[in-house]
Amino acid sequence: MSEIARHIKNLTRHVHNRHGRWQRCRTTDHEVDPPLGTPIKPVTMPALPLTGGCSCGAVRYEIGAEPQAFYLCHCTECQRHTSSAFGMSLRCDPATVTVTGAMKTISRMSESGTRRFGDFCPECGVRIQHRSENDPSRLNIKAGTLDDTSWLVPAGHIWISSKQPYVVIGEEELAYPQQPEDKTAAIKERWRMMLDAGDA
Ligand SMILES: [Zn+2]
Ligand SMILES: [Zn+2]
Repeated sequence: MSEIARHIKNLTRHVHNRHGRWQRCRTTDHEVDPPLGTPIKPVTMPALPLTGGCSCGAVRYEIGAEPQAFYLCHCTECQRHTSSAFGMSLRCDPATVTVTGAMKTISRMSESGTRRFGDFCPECGVRIQHRSENDPSRLNIKAGTLDDTSWLVPAGHIWISSKQPYVVIGEEELAYPQQPEDKTAAIKERWRMMLDAGDA
């Protein structure tokens, strides 16, 4: 076995426990220093502000600070509103996001009984962001609307109980059957590590 193949084999022996934290599998005796010991994918974010908008240009936005997380949601609601396999959520502090152009809003009750809002361009129908009634600090920019999406790497997956069967999630990735009980704390932590790895 080549050195690189042996290294990859050792990396795959790292598993995350139910709290989403990385731990070394007891079967390996090979010591690998962080960050190699955890298969963290580096993320190199473009310069701020991040910019994006709808298809027709009536709605534009700027994100002035580093987003708190990026993850994919495989729930059936996201599959419907994207008319695709999953939603891409870029969690941001609302105080750092500036939107220009009027949006229309739809709302729905989530499975957990909280009201969620979706804001979209009334001209072209593109969904720009999601908000939550009971948590004003929670804003998810729909990341497919960014002008540059090439740098995005998901820090986790939620609602994989309803994911499409052809979407394959790596064993080393953070994944939750439904909404994470920790309110995406582990995904945020993972994202932080990915950004740090990209800076290094
Ligand atoms: Zn538009
Ligand atoms: Zn969803």
